[in-house]
Amino acid sequence: MKSLRQCKGKNQAGLPCQKASQCDEDLCWSHNPKNRAERVRTASRGGRGRVNREAAEAKEYLRQLRDDVRSGTCPPGVGSVVNQVVNTMLRSIEVERKLEESDVRAEFEELKRELGIT
Ligand SMILES: [Zn+2]
Repeated sequence: MKSLRQCKGKNQAGLPCQKASQCDEDLCWSHNPKNRAERVRTASRGGRGRVNREAAEAKEYLRQLRDDVRSGTCPPGVGSVVNQVVNTMLRSIEVERKLEESDVRAEFEELKRELGIT
């Protein structure tokens, strides 16, 4: 049984990447050169914020995980745990999105008050 290993890539600060490597790879999805085209596509959709980018990344990661489990590259046990972790990430992304939304709403209400629009 394979265990989750840490990605051998480095982040923008030059520190070791904290993400888990993908099955049979030494790198996480983001650092794997095989995903470059998809990464560029995801980045070009950017401007809608980090939260959207992270959600798209998680979705892409799950798609890869599904394929790896189906092909037998990734043991179902590992796939199941990774799936739970990614789902937890998606839940925290959703919480973050709601918090940002309420911040924007509060700022909007404040602006309306300042402009005398009620
Ligand atoms: Zn990485």
